Amino acid sequence: MASRYEPGEDYALRLDAEDPLAGYRDRFYLPRDSIYMDGNSLGLMSVDAERSLLRVMGEWRTLGIKGWGGAEIPWIRYAERLGELQAPLVGAEPDELVVSGGTTVNLHALVSTFYKPKGKKRKILADEFNFPSDLYALSAQVRLRGGDPDEDLVLVKSRDGLLVEEDDIVEAMTDQVQLALLPSVYYRSGQLLDLRRLTEEAHRRGIVIGFDCSHSVGVVPHRLSEWGADFAFWCNYKYVNGGPGSTGSLYVNRRHFGSMPGMAGWFGNDRSTMFEMRNEFDPARTASAWQIGTTTMLSTAPIEGSLKMIREAGIGSIREKSLRITGYLMHLIDETLSREPYSYGIATPREAERRGGHVGVTHADAWRINQALIARGVIPDFRPPNIIRLAPIPLYVSYHDVWKVAQHLKAVIDDGEHLRFKDDRSTVT
Ligand SMILES: *Cc1c(COP(=O)(O)O)cnc(C)c1O
Repeated sequence: MASRYEPGEDYALRLDAEDPLAGYRDRFYLPRDSIYMDGNSLGLMSVDAERSLLRVMGEWRTLGIKGWGGAEIPWIRYAERLGELQAPLVGAEPDELVVSGGTTVNLHALVSTFYKPKGKKRKILADEFNFPSDLYALSAQVRLRGGDPDEDLVLVKSRDGLLVEEDDIVEAMTDQVQLALLPSVYYRSGQLLDLRRLTEEAHRRGIVIGFDCSHSVGVVPHRLSEWGADFAFWCNYKYVNGGPGSTGSLYVNRRHFGSMPGMAGWFGNDRSTMFEMRNEFDPARTASAWQIGTTTMLSTAPIEGSLKMIREAGIGSIREKSLRITGYLMHLIDETLSREPYSYGIATPREAERRGGHVGVTHADAWRINQALIARGVIPDFRPPNIIRLAPIPLYVSYHDVWKVAQHLKAVIDDGEHLRFKDDRSTVT
């Protein structure tokens, strides 16, 4: 975006006055006396999410077991219905997506289906900066097939300790790789990978490719079906604002419909034969087949209200504001806080097509500065070794908030406030 930012507070207020999404902020419960910059870890609660949860609670109260068939959205079909609601956000066809399971659980369900080591083609390709849970799960999948993760799990390395180059990922796609699993946006740096290119390159080499989109769904548009990704999964408690530990989502490209799920369970059964309670599994012919157990209604219901709100706002408008507001934050840091004595840096790529919804701010004393920001009522988070993550969520963070955060970053150093904190990293943020 070619817009030139200005440093003053009045400019921030002007951006807010012109912001077409500004009205959504009132539909969220904002923690009092704080500036919430951690929505990439846990999105805030909206009245919309609360309302859909309360409706389902009411259905439970009044309908009991009959809710499975007789609720406003029958619970038996809820996972698929929410999948249909979410599909446009990720460029999926409605039956390629279900809201079901958890992030890491869905990884296991999908990788156990698509990881088929054969002869020399037995490696899984990932990278050293993927979310640790994903790497633990991939190692476990290799071991389950009798492999050795030291041999069969290939991790692409970063050149600079910050970013992962698509060229390096493509180069690591050898004829020994059978499956690749990569993140869309890196949880630390905020780098966005070129998923279209990676999918093309993988398929050219006969490699099955899937993506963990936990850090992009709800803030970055996707075209999963057009790109031809084989599978994807993500959590709904970050930019989708579905609530702590809310149900995740899984995507399976329709070319794989009818494959036998690696972790079968009765909720993956075709609904028309499910209650015949036969001993033979009859998988649904859609992504629904990858569900395992009963829909966790109370962890899923808030997602309904959230998804409707995101659709109403439009993922295109959300991305537009996200790029503008993260660009603004980076501009303020570059222009006013990058030199001594402030010495803040930015880990996130500047190019719009290479970044997601948060900004990774680097500083040699990042841990203590993070503590000092919390004491000042800013809610960021810290990721080792030296990154403060700041996520200006388009639906509820204002440009004025971002301007104030920059003032806090400055004041912490001006007053030496961070020096009052011990450099111990025991606290979870
Ligand atoms: C948040 C996140 C997860 C979380 O996994 P859970 O199973 O929901 O705890 C996994 N992968 C990535 C990339 C994430 O950002």
